Amino acid sequence: MLRNDQLDQWDRENFFHPSTHMGQHERGESANRVITGGSGVYIEDRNGNRLLDGFAGLYCVNVGYGRQEIADAIAAQAKELSYYHAYVGHGTEASITLAKMVMDRMPEHMSKVYFGLGGSDANETNIKLVWYYNNILGRPEKKKIISRWRGYHGSGLMTGSLTGLTPFHNKFDLPLSQVLHTETPSYFRRPDLDMSEADFVTHCADKLEEMIAAEGADTIAAFIGEPMLGTGGIVPPPAGYWNAIQAVLDKHDILLIADEVVTGFGRLGTMTGSAHYGLKPDIITIAKGLTSAYAPLSGSVISDKVWQVMVKGSDEMGPIGHGWTYSAHPIGAAAGVANLKLVDDLGLVENAGTVGAYLNEKMKDAVADHPQVGDVRGEGMLCAVEFVDDKASRKFYDPSRKIGPAVSAAVLKQGVIGRAMPQGDILGFAPPLCLTREEADKIVDATRAAITEVF
Ligand code: PLP
Repeated sequence: MLRNDQLDQWDRENFFHPSTHMGQHERGESANRVITGGSGVYIEDRNGNRLLDGFAGLYCVNVGYGRQEIADAIAAQAKELSYYHAYVGHGTEASITLAKMVMDRMPEHMSKVYFGLGGSDANETNIKLVWYYNNILGRPEKKKIISRWRGYHGSGLMTGSLTGLTPFHNKFDLPLSQVLHTETPSYFRRPDLDMSEADFVTHCADKLEEMIAAEGADTIAAFIGEPMLGTGGIVPPPAGYWNAIQAVLDKHDILLIADEVVTGFGRLGTMTGSAHYGLKPDIITIAKGLTSAYAPLSGSVISDKVWQVMVKGSDEMGPIGHGWTYSAHPIGAAAGVANLKLVDDLGLVENAGTVGAYLNEKMKDAVADHPQVGDVRGEGMLCAVEFVDDKASRKFYDPSRKIGPAVSAAVLKQGVIGRAMPQGDILGFAPPLCLTREEADKIVDATRAAITEVF
């Protein structure tokens, strides 16, 4: 085994980490941590620390760490057939089985799944398909995509543009010109509007209408949104939000892409966020919970309405010119099959609903009264605490005070991983779906202790 100082040096000299302060890391000023193992909801680092992972990696290790069934399925697949491509109709037993399992879990009107590797490439696929769709239908002008401020849809050129968080745009020359951002459905963050929640929903729908009117409905192809906002701050939509948005989209013949990278496969206590909120999307993005991150795999799930146009396209032009070498990779597919089976066998969708509700209630009871806690919110296995400088006037902290990072560092000292969400002073939790009530209590206790320490 390599010595810690050797690993540290190699890390600093060679490894360009995602979403990391590059200079601080290279100078050895950032808190890097070498993770060595995981079991259930816990991970271990090289120094022997055992941490309760209250964020399931990056909301992805839904079944928890160290699942033998998935490891065995991956090993068996690697031995039998490590790779063959999925082009021109090829498949493996694992990829065909997984496609069937996915479609059995998606809303009735969905028809096919296109497999990719991660959420970003799946959303890139989705936008290409939307453009292809409108070109086949003879509507070459209908191309713009509406996303929301604080939405997160990935880090590619198009998906980084769709993402409505400015650090993903700055100095990258994004967003691309085809992308527009509309109001985010965070009622809590808009005290300035001084309106009821119901009026705020109408406001969001009106803002969307205004944007469509200004641009021309015949130029807008699709609207993309996470059923419940994740990286932008873990924000459940206000009641009636999706009904109001869907009505506007339907009126203007604009496709709806539900980005279910976080919400897909049980995180909200339902198989999909679309089912949870009653959306009828044309395309659904899936990733993380598909394999619980035991191997990279994602999917673009296409409705029958869109699929029929795709078929027409192929009949006119031949095979679709879109493919990844690793699409439907057999090892990812084998992991997916074993993972979804485990989700069923352990009743994890149901557990996410019940233990998730327990976690959210307990968190409210424990910290909502604190003068620096403005909001405690969540659904299923998503929970967030948002801090405010002044509770009564809902005055937010100056971002330079870095309250969110301070609280997440204090939670870590308690042996629990929470995430300082990149927008606002928000501490987020998205634990594995197998979390128990006792483990939920640990998250809540650590949060309360951290708040006491920081404020
Ligand atoms: N969409 C959503 C809603 C996400 O939360 C993420 C990642 O967190 C992505 C897309 C991008 O997925 P990936 O990081 O696998 O490319």
